[in-house]
Amino acid sequence: MTIARAAGTLTFPARFTLVASMNPCPCGFRGDRASDCRCDDATVQKYLGKLSGPLLDRIDLHVSVSRVSFDELVQRGPAETSGTIRARVEAARARQAARLRDAGVVTNAAIAAADVRKLCPLDAKPLALLEGAVTRGALSARAFDRVVRVARTIADLAGAERIAREHVAEALLYRGAERTR
Ligand SMILES: [Zn+2]
Repeated sequence: MTIARAAGTLTFPARFTLVASMNPCPCGFRGDRASDCRCDDATVQKYLGKLSGPLLDRIDLHVSVSRVSFDELVQRGPAETSGTIRARVEAARARQAARLRDAGVVTNAAIAAADVRKLCPLDAKPLALLEGAVTRGALSARAFDRVVRVARTIADLAGAERIAREHVAEALLYRGAERTR
């Protein structure tokens, strides 16, 4: 991580995965199917506003998780095993490492901002979807490159050679920025 200020530029070793969680509103029930949230919109906006945009921008995957009902808990079929998921992730990482060999990095997340356009080229349709999100103000310039990296990773998980519109749509979904479909 590099911080540039008037007094100088410092580079700190910082490579980590940040996982964080929060309630959707002060009472915690907003969006819940079984319970009623009693927070008004202004209260919810104030609550969510505690997290700054620049901070949220740097978190790539925003996932809303609703409560699991008792029926779902009891009736749910067998989940995918960790082993199965691991194999899929390893295959996606191998694809990334092979593609990025010349760039000196092994994962899409590590692609330098200056190299994103070159290493993650976008066809007209996925590009148009991103353009729409930026134009609506749903996506900042800072978040743009990050969404492209996530879309590339989704494509790698799907074994796709090119980034398709659906991959970008899913990446935008993780930002809460996809409202056009
Ligand atoms: Zn609430």
